[in-house]
Amino acid sequence: MDRDCRTSCSILVSGGEGILRVASYDIQFQKGLSLREFNGTYGSEDQCAEAICKARWPDGFVCPECGSTRHCRLGRGLFQCQDCRHQTSPTAGTIFQDTKLPLTVWFLAMHLLTQGKHSVSALELKRQLGVCYDTAWSMKQKILQVMTEREEGRVLSGRVEVDDAYVGGEQHEGKRGRGAAGKTPFVVAVETDPEVPERVLYLKMKTLEHVSSEELEPWFRKSIIEGSLVLTDGWKAYNFLEDGWEHDAQKSPGGWKSAKVAAFRWVNTVLGNLKCNIKGVTRWVGRAHLDRYLAEFQYRFNRRFDMKSILPRLLTTAVRTPAMPQALLKLAWMDKTA
Ligand SMILES: [Zn+2]
Repeated sequence: MDRDCRTSCSILVSGGEGILRVASYDIQFQKGLSLREFNGTYGSEDQCAEAICKARWPDGFVCPECGSTRHCRLGRGLFQCQDCRHQTSPTAGTIFQDTKLPLTVWFLAMHLLTQGKHSVSALELKRQLGVCYDTAWSMKQKILQVMTEREEGRVLSGRVEVDDAYVGGEQHEGKRGRGAAGKTPFVVAVETDPEVPERVLYLKMKTLEHVSSEELEPWFRKSIIEGSLVLTDGWKAYNFLEDGWEHDAQKSPGGWKSAKVAAFRWVNTVLGNLKCNIKGVTRWVGRAHLDRYLAEFQYRFNRRFDMKSILPRLLTTAVRTPAMPQALLKLAWMDKTA
């Protein structure tokens, strides 16, 4: 985040080996996966196909029909089980299923969508990948679907700043704030270290029909561990938090002054960056796509501690995500944006 580089705070990262302290300066200036390294690792069809096999079967091929590991390799990358003779394509049942594009194009799309601080529009992908706009748009939607499914199960805890915000609709003349016509509301939750609120950890967001307790409560129950300290403004829809969480309802001064309340420093910083990202990259996001765009932003934010591993980790999820049904993609296409 922009604010990271102006502060000298450190950030706690929960990992397999426990808790690490990472200076926010180091997050900004860490080495990512350079284009040269990317080309060296994923520059050929064989390298990409092997990377998919390794992500899908880290301990070696397992027949999806009978579970046998005895196999031989056929042409076109197919595996044949030596017990039941079933043939399996490494891309079957993944987001790459039935693709007519070289895998190198898919990998480059995933690289471009994960290494930058900001998103990449379908139009920019089209230019960078040398494919037609429709193809770039479909690829982007499928990759965003992977990010959405990966972030679905994220749970926050500790100290969590919450706010709701809006995209779309009238920017200047329409009614502003809650209930504004044509705007899509969404809720934003940012987890910070309970001891040191300057240490921001993870982010979770969700679009809503209305900012009501009926919609918010089920999402909170599965997204924020009960007992956590949750800071909100005084909006009545958050009153359900009294039952299960430590609820700190801050009195909001209203209008632009609300963005200056210290308790909501991080949620406001995230919101500012998100809005810049949407305006700068896609200009506009329709309601039908907003959840996927939010998940994309969230995915990159929550993995900003380790840019080098972000592509292999995305690949691990991509081979476990079924191909997006064509009907769903067509439905999305009808409401497409950049
Ligand atoms: Zn088999």
